[in-house]
Amino acid sequence: MEHFPEQAWADFVRGISKSEATITMNSHLTSGCTDCAAVLDVWKRVHAIASRESSYMPPEDRVRMMRVEFQARNRSRKAEPVTAKLIFDTLAQPLTAGIRSAAATARQLVYEAEGLTVDVRLDAQPQSKTVFAVGQILDKRMPLIPSTEASVTLWTEKGLPLIETRPNQFGEFHLEFEAQDNLRLSVTVLGRTPILKPLANLRKAGR
Ligand SMILES: [Zn+2]
Repeated sequence: MEHFPEQAWADFVRGISKSEATITMNSHLTSGCTDCAAVLDVWKRVHAIASRESSYMPPEDRVRMMRVEFQARNRSRKAEPVTAKLIFDTLAQPLTAGIRSAAATARQLVYEAEGLTVDVRLDAQPQSKTVFAVGQILDKRMPLIPSTEASVTLWTEKGLPLIETRPNQFGEFHLEFEAQDNLRLSVTVLGRTPILKPLANLRKAGR
């Protein structure tokens, strides 16, 4: 039995289907398709709510609210990302002039969020754009991290994933990537997802 797509039922409910489509769909329902009857029922209810609300709410508000609700629903399925707090940065430490230039290519950052501490050390050779990141995730709740329940993802500023890896049971991970600004790192451990952003501004300005 050929079913009809959701969009067709949405149009059907709003009474904007072509008349021959309405006839075919009606006979499809009469033939006893419970799948399509269920879809139709959902759209009938959506339509009823929408027409009731339009009496006191402008449509664009309704659309926005539905969008917010959908996003909220999607979020509840996954862990909501939380921006981690940067608690230590070697660049923020006072260094003597001699050490500062020698240490310029290595940087250590420590972030904290949701009971997780993430320690990241970034190294780059002076003439290279390649960055080596070595990190460790520590969970205050447990000494070992279940590797299958943990992941580390490096993202661009625009939210495109660059690299995904899994830490070992000690929470250790390493990444190798091209330097660019405003990279962010997200760490997921047992449903908690702190985001480290910016990981560091890694593009070597003026060099
Ligand atoms: Zn059907």
